[in-house]
Amino acid sequence: ALDTMLYLDGVSVSFDGFKAINNLSIIVQPAEMLAIIGPNGAGKTTMMDIITGKTRPDAGEVMFDGRTDLTKLDEAAIANLGIGRKFQKPTVFESHTVWDNLAMALRKPRGIFATLFYSASNEDEARITEILETVRLLHRKDEFAANLSHGQKQWLEIGMLLAQDPKLLLVDEPVAGMTDSETEETAKLLREISVTRSVVVVEHDMSFVRELGSRVVCLAEGSVLAEGSLDQVSKNPVVIERYLGR
Ligand code: ADP
Repeated sequence: ALDTMLYLDGVSVSFDGFKAINNLSIIVQPAEMLAIIGPNGAGKTTMMDIITGKTRPDAGEVMFDGRTDLTKLDEAAIANLGIGRKFQKPTVFESHTVWDNLAMALRKPRGIFATLFYSASNEDEARITEILETVRLLHRKDEFAANLSHGQKQWLEIGMLLAQDPKLLLVDEPVAGMTDSETEETAKLLREISVTRSVVVVEHDMSFVRELGSRVVCLAEGSVLAEGSLDQVSKNPVVIERYLGR
């Protein structure tokens, strides 16, 4: 439908004859958070790679924002449409301040050199301040990124993605290695972001998925095994047998 943010329809991809994604259909609405769970090898990473154009499917459609077929576009074009991806490990500029990391992210399309010698406009400053508030880092704005905790680096990277103003944010296991309080704060942060943007989170940590409180899709063998609330999914007998029961 036209008001759908992301629509995977009958998507399949094989690697050397092995079907990593098998007739997968998934819908993400605007301003909706979706958690993707499932055992190792279920196809979670491959699904993210297909959405971002890193992997091209053999069959199926990937419609973004109601109209654009992502399977026809390359990675850069897809990113420019407003799809941001956060990989598991934080990649921030350690030897720059938190503030400058954000300033660089705002300027990213113009390249690193434009970035190094620029002074932020008032408008940029307001935007950077707003994003740093969102990601709980305003009080650390003058700190070198290297001095942040692991969790704070993850938040900074989420902030850098927000600077690109994505409509859809893809997040891969954000809380791996975080403290309990950072994990709790990350769930809150992602819930706040999903008030205005679509968010897809791939996650192993079930207590974190519970804190997200979002709709859940459980993948197995490249297809949807179950979907619904976490309670519904975790009561599904097939899920219990094949995933949660081990
Ligand atoms: P998950 O992220 O859920 O653990 P993946 O998407 O990484 O699952 O992998 C799904 C399946 O596809 C696995 O069996 C994996 O070995 C296989 N696979 C993923 N990428 C490749 C690749 N580039 N070449 C061959 N096999 C791959």
